[in-house]
Amino acid sequence: MPIIHELSDHLADLIAAGEVVERPASVAKELVENAIDAHATQITVEIENGGISYLRIADNGCGMSPEDAPIAFRRHATSKLRTEDDLSAIGTLGFRGEALAAIASVSRIDLFTKQADTLAGVHLHLEAGEILENEEAGCPNGTTIIVRDIFYNTPARMKFLRKDFTEAGYVVGVVQHAALSHPEIAFTMIRDGRQVFATPGNGKLIAPVFSVFGKEMTANLIEVPAFSRGSLSAWGYITKAHAGRPNRSMQHFFVNGRYVKSRVMQAAMEEAYRNKLITGKYPSGVMFLTLPLHMVDVNVHPAKTEVKFAEEKAVFDVVYVACKNALEQDDNVPEIKAHA
Ligand code: ADP
Ligand code: MG
Repeated sequence: MPIIHELSDHLADLIAAGEVVERPASVAKELVENAIDAHATQITVEIENGGISYLRIADNGCGMSPEDAPIAFRRHATSKLRTEDDLSAIGTLGFRGEALAAIASVSRIDLFTKQADTLAGVHLHLEAGEILENEEAGCPNGTTIIVRDIFYNTPARMKFLRKDFTEAGYVVGVVQHAALSHPEIAFTMIRDGRQVFATPGNGKLIAPVFSVFGKEMTANLIEVPAFSRGSLSAWGYITKAHAGRPNRSMQHFFVNGRYVKSRVMQAAMEEAYRNKLITGKYPSGVMFLTLPLHMVDVNVHPAKTEVKFAEEKAVFDVVYVACKNALEQDDNVPEIKAHA
């Protein structure tokens, strides 16, 4: 008898889930990305108990056919990638076909989905990755997914979750990033029955910036108009030089519409403030970068928040110059002082 054998699909899903689904916020991120990829113009995220017992994402996107819906929960099942060539030019947020299978393997799911050109939609109920119900359902166009009791069947992972309050904060963060990178989509975030924030979806970046940063901080932001060099462009909002913060928690970077952690962009932004900020203070802001798909690799890690740039120097330069120009412009605007 050989001692090496292939893992069962369920066990393989559980292992993959370890990488994709770390906490409710990772579930929210994957589901919001799916809604964006489905061309939704309205996305509502609702959580209870930090998303641990209840997480609902409703979109008005393209929906799935009753035939496709069950397939979506299979491992490596995707509509976004077909050939090896596609992998070198990824234009959607998802592409690995793992998220739904991974999330389903560690939770209880209800999916309602309907395409605009059909009369009825479909409802699926899954537990631990298995489809227990599959029935016709009257539902609005688009997709609603309710994820309940995350990690109920994997107590080891459950133990690593923080307090509801902390988990809720992570979920809100994910939705804020999505709202910032998609001003054209109206986002609503509801926590324990209360609306945390909502964006109008009018296409103007300042609207989500205001919703996310709040009134006080927005007043200290300056606009970084789009600056292009070659095929790269950078723009956003950054803090005025006097408004440094003691940490970097309010720095948000986006590459081709995807929230990323980028040391290059961070370094470029901070370099623009050289000699303007006192030691120990950091600038805040949101900076966006677009560049041709072949100049960036997003397939570095399953969570997709890390990217590799083919030309780091070019990225640094475009972000640096964009920020520097904006800061210089701001220097030239005379301070308005109230008369004593
Ligand atoms: P990926 O996003 O990497 O393709 P997922 O497991 O997240 O993998 O989703 C599998 C497939 O299910 C997607 O490729 C898409 O066709 C479909 N899908 C998932 N969520 C939605 C949604 N909100 N609206 C429409 N289709 C969806
Ligand atoms: Mg996906």
